[in-house]
Amino acid sequence: MFVQAEDNIWDCLIVGGGLAGGLLLQALRTEQPELKVLLLERGTQLGGNHTWSFHGSDVPGDATWLQSLISKTWPAYEVRFPRYQRKIQSSYCSIKAQDFHQKLLGQHGSQILLQASVQEVRRDSVTLLDGRMFRAKCVIDARGWGAAADVKRGYQKFVGLDVKLSQPHGLNHVILKDVLVPQVDGYRFVYILPWSETELLVEDTYYSNTPDLDVTALKSGILDYIAGKGWVTESVIRQEVGCLPLDLYDVPVEGGPSGGPLNLGAASGVYQPVTGYTFPQTVACVQALAKSSLDTWGEVLPALQLNYKKQARYLRILNRMMFLAAVPEKRYVILERFYLLSEALIERFYQGRLTVLDQVRILCGKPPVSVWRALKSLF
Ligand SMILES: Cc1cc2nc3c(=O)[nH]c(=O)nc-3n(C[C@H](O)[C@H](O)[C@H](O)COP(=O)(O)OP(=O)(O)OC[C@H]3O[C@@H](n4cnc5c(N)ncnc54)[C@H](O)[C@@H]3O)c2cc1C
Repeated sequence: MFVQAEDNIWDCLIVGGGLAGGLLLQALRTEQPELKVLLLERGTQLGGNHTWSFHGSDVPGDATWLQSLISKTWPAYEVRFPRYQRKIQSSYCSIKAQDFHQKLLGQHGSQILLQASVQEVRRDSVTLLDGRMFRAKCVIDARGWGAAADVKRGYQKFVGLDVKLSQPHGLNHVILKDVLVPQVDGYRFVYILPWSETELLVEDTYYSNTPDLDVTALKSGILDYIAGKGWVTESVIRQEVGCLPLDLYDVPVEGGPSGGPLNLGAASGVYQPVTGYTFPQTVACVQALAKSSLDTWGEVLPALQLNYKKQARYLRILNRMMFLAAVPEKRYVILERFYLLSEALIERFYQGRLTVLDQVRILCGKPPVSVWRALKSLF
């Protein structure tokens, strides 16, 4: 139950109880418990309806505060392409939003205010729709994705089902990409997380030119896929739908303290442009805040975010190759080639921390798309 600060002045107000806001609360309560922190979320649940997944290598080694939020860790993951299959012995983890909500509320309930719809966010204050005002030394805006500009872009869109099977499925590692499915509506793969011996998340994913999703058709396709593996679905436990915008062209890179609140997570525009994922970048930013003094956050956070935004320029070139140069049903060939690279490079790719050599390595060799179309896509 939320406890009001005596003077209603907080050290840190976090606006938005999604992935970024929740992680920051958890990290600050662990690393700097003396800070008076309050998380404001408009909904009745923290985290919404998500399964957030990430590679074990995305997590900074000293981010021990994260461990109790992880729902499941697997020792390895596999990719399946027409030309080969590869199992990578590197850990993969997921956080279920329902666990996230329960754990955060259980551990830090007095620092969380639900059903708090924020109307105005300033550098040192937050005003709710009902007129209540909170003041703080630092305000973090973690309200998620803003409205997308009307520009040409690609999409990673998916429908996932958590299912209960009538028999054990026999999988003990993640199937990150099963590309051995018909390549329709762009690069398509099925993603499988084995939660328990008889429970799976099965997700049908498309790298498509359009955001349209026929959820009913995709659900029935997923159930057919499961049946095709010889598994019998006893019940569908939960459904998850997503459509992540993948930018093709550069957006202005802003950096340095702006005088407004600090942005975190999707609200900061920092994400991996090829995957649409925010976890690796968000956890690194949260860790940086948790390990530094509140007086320095105005420099620490924008500097880190600026580095990610610079790297994003290169990743958007890859998006242009994928969405503009490759024929939609042959997009998978780019990924088929990519997953032959070293494990360390693959990890740095997901983290958005490619070295210059990595960037050259990804693009060198015979291009998997028409050279002419590839060159055209760069400009
Ligand atoms: C279905 C789905 C699955 C995804 N899976 C992954 C994944 O596996 N790995 C990964 O890295 N990325 C994933 N992403 C992408 C990205 O990581 C998520 O979108 C992530 O939730 C973004 O975190 P965030 O905290 O920035 O925003 P959000 O999680 O969207 O949180 C924003 C929060 O702010 C609250 N809010 C908004 N406005 C107000 C207001 N005015 N007042 C108070 N509260 C407000 C919202 O209710 C929400 O709870 C996924 C996205 C989707 C849609």
